[in-house]
Amino acid sequence: MLNQLSPENIYFDRLITTPPDGEFHYQLDQNLRYVPEPGYYDGPPVLPGSQCLNDPEPWDLDPANLQQNLFYKYIDDINDIGLDYDVGSPYVQPLAQVRIPDPSAMPKFNLSSELSIIKRCRTAVASLYGMKTGSIYYAPMKCERFWCPECGGKHGFIHERRKNSAYTKMNHGCLPKNRAERREVVQGFLVGQYVFTTPEVGREKFMTREGVSKIYDAVKRTVKAFEPHTDILSGLHPCGDKHPDKFHPQVHVLTFSRKGEHHRLRITPERLAAIKDVYAQELRDIGFDGVRGPGESIKGKLVDVHYSFAAKANQVLHLVNYVTRPLGAEHLKAWQESDNGRDMIDLCVRDLKGFRFIRYWGKWAGCKYADKQNVIEEVQSFINEPVKFLGHIHMADLQVLIRAGDVAKIGRDLYARPGPFSKNCLPQKRDPAKRTRGK
Ligand SMILES: [Zn+2]
Repeated sequence: MLNQLSPENIYFDRLITTPPDGEFHYQLDQNLRYVPEPGYYDGPPVLPGSQCLNDPEPWDLDPANLQQNLFYKYIDDINDIGLDYDVGSPYVQPLAQVRIPDPSAMPKFNLSSELSIIKRCRTAVASLYGMKTGSIYYAPMKCERFWCPECGGKHGFIHERRKNSAYTKMNHGCLPKNRAERREVVQGFLVGQYVFTTPEVGREKFMTREGVSKIYDAVKRTVKAFEPHTDILSGLHPCGDKHPDKFHPQVHVLTFSRKGEHHRLRITPERLAAIKDVYAQELRDIGFDGVRGPGESIKGKLVDVHYSFAAKANQVLHLVNYVTRPLGAEHLKAWQESDNGRDMIDLCVRDLKGFRFIRYWGKWAGCKYADKQNVIEEVQSFINEPVKFLGHIHMADLQVLIRAGDVAKIGRDLYARPGPFSKNCLPQKRDPAKRTRGK
């Protein structure tokens, strides 16, 4: 059934967790883990693999209302991040017409509620109507948080979207649909990679959104001085690979040039030294004291900039893959388990919410890529057909449609009920809507 949940039935209501006995005997420790209150016994320790690990926890949100809560969250996010109030937020629009939230009544940021948003991931599904084929497309809505096992980390939805944006740039604005097409696209490129690291001394004072932006901008100014006309993809990683629990911001910069264009991929040691000199000056300007470039006759620690390059398809795919990789659930876990992980949680979960980790410079500048699901655009770029937003259904309802054979999976997280027409508006030979059910 389509659009069972009409926008009229949705209202915005914060959930208050009411435990069964009316009293909540848990408190958050400094790393935001729920622990029993002193003196409260909550049963014997559980062995790994026990069935009860799947039971809801006392602090879980009411599962019956997850979907509502997700819609509320989307509006919250868009206010927080300042993204598209009217354009490009198809799911918010019809909802906002029902009851426009008053920004002054918006709840303040709440870390533990923010952390639990991932439980609402993919509980609601946007349904879209294909204007040419009459097909109905179903796109589950994501929570977009890096600590979500489906959205964050290597090959999660955020990573996938970032990579797709890069391959789309490389392919003149058209999304390569599969591995073979991606290889085809990257084959035409020579890619240079710079890694700008930050000095260990003085890093702590950059553990804010503003601080991280300053580092990013210092790198941008440095790169612009040397690569003013190159297509560039840059990515900021808040931690290094070896110590995921530590703040170690680094900016990866990929320069793209098409094979056949006159471009020197190999750079001379002199040029790299000159880049380091400029970077050292930029770092001093934003407040990193005691750093210098190799060509500077002052005291201080040498700044670190690595350069390498790739010309083979596999290497280029690997570089794009690596640079666009977001934080993952493993990072939150590492911070929760480390003694002073709370600073990293505050930085990455609260301060850097909505931060643009991926940026395009040079000729690709002006692309304001954000880690935000845009249902209509994403579906359109995948199916090459204009679509109209219809409404939302519950994930459970989509699962019923899939089980009944009415809806099939057509992409990584995209489902469709085929319509009566082909892409060029001719009637399909066989009308899938007329199939008999339950054969
Ligand atoms: Zn998610």
